[in-house]
Amino acid sequence: MNESEAACKRTFGKRDGALLVKSVSALDVAKGDVVGGVDILVVDGTIEAVGANLSAPREALVVSGAGLFALPGLIDLHVHLVWDGGPSPLETMRKDGLAYAAMRGAANAVASLRRGVTTLRDVGSPDDVAVDIARAFDSGLFFGPTVFPLGRIVQPTGGHVPEIGYVANGVGEAIKAVRSIKERGAKGIKMASTGGAYGPEEIGPAVYTFEEMKAIADEAHRLHLKVATHALGAEGIRLSVEAGIDTIEHGAGTPVEVLKEMKRRGTVLIPTLAVYRMLAESEGMIPDEYVEKAKRVAAWHEETFLGAVAEGVPIALGTDAGSPNFGPHPSVNKELETMVRLGMDCESAIAAATCNAASVLGMERSIGKIEAGFVGDMVIVDGNPFENVASLRNIVHVFKRGVLVDGFN
Ligand SMILES: [Zn+2]
Repeated sequence: MNESEAACKRTFGKRDGALLVKSVSALDVAKGDVVGGVDILVVDGTIEAVGANLSAPREALVVSGAGLFALPGLIDLHVHLVWDGGPSPLETMRKDGLAYAAMRGAANAVASLRRGVTTLRDVGSPDDVAVDIARAFDSGLFFGPTVFPLGRIVQPTGGHVPEIGYVANGVGEAIKAVRSIKERGAKGIKMASTGGAYGPEEIGPAVYTFEEMKAIADEAHRLHLKVATHALGAEGIRLSVEAGIDTIEHGAGTPVEVLKEMKRRGTVLIPTLAVYRMLAESEGMIPDEYVEKAKRVAAWHEETFLGAVAEGVPIALGTDAGSPNFGPHPSVNKELETMVRLGMDCESAIAAATCNAASVLGMERSIGKIEAGFVGDMVIVDGNPFENVASLRNIVHVFKRGVLVDGFN
């Protein structure tokens, strides 16, 4: 750390110490249970104990949780931090330039933290700037959420959103793309197996061959990175699953036999349901052909999602926050409420946004649960989210590594 970084850390960084939340109802997100009347002690960023009548070190911040509910900090696995969620995020990004886009990304991450999203996986940024945003928080330059950056989206010529892409054709270039993005500091690989709704390309056909997809997946796995793929429509999703890709992003139009295969392999579905509904209702705000494509996706999506729930496919939460016309970051409440409205129970929806999402990041032993030894990332809300997921809008406190996040107090 250099001198200016150290100075900024003193001003904006984590204030080490202890936190005691007294007598709160804690959500056991893995079991779907509520444990009433517990105290939660966090020391130097880590949950030290969860139990009755804990005593706090003298300097601890003591917060009453009486009548309130505590759950682990929320995790959104599909965000575009540099995008603002306005009608034309790509145009805004182009006008802003890269440096400002990165600053906007950091601001969007902080705004997300204030609404209880303590960990974000960025799935597409120009010049891999999400890597730099993540580093600014990790190094203590700014106080913010944990950002898990995937860098640019690996895609072929004629692919989906090349403005935030790494264009690679053929097995050799695809392998080079994985190595380059890893070298830049990404913690995983994002690729696109098909076209998308927001863009001029067709959504249907796979844009990569099976050999290209498999080369990306194999090379990433060899380097101990997981692969997320943007995939819509039966053909591209089937090939992606067979190629061994770890998470299917969006996934609308997955046939039942492919859902069964996902369950067998442990391939995770990250549905991003709310964003396509929003795009499908954006007549006059985004180009008509994009609206038409989004309507088709939204119609496929519900069947896929309910099929995945019925088949027991692992599901984790991602929102596509920052996408056109989706509104300011974060978008987690919209997604959770959409999942529940379509038929998922509140307990499963919250597991998707906490412990299931932590597993996707390979952080299932450090985040996504309120347990001794886990990071002290927590949200305190008024109302039981297992009874009404919209209770997550009633935030009383957010803690990042046991530090009280400003904004509600
Ligand atoms: Zn996306």
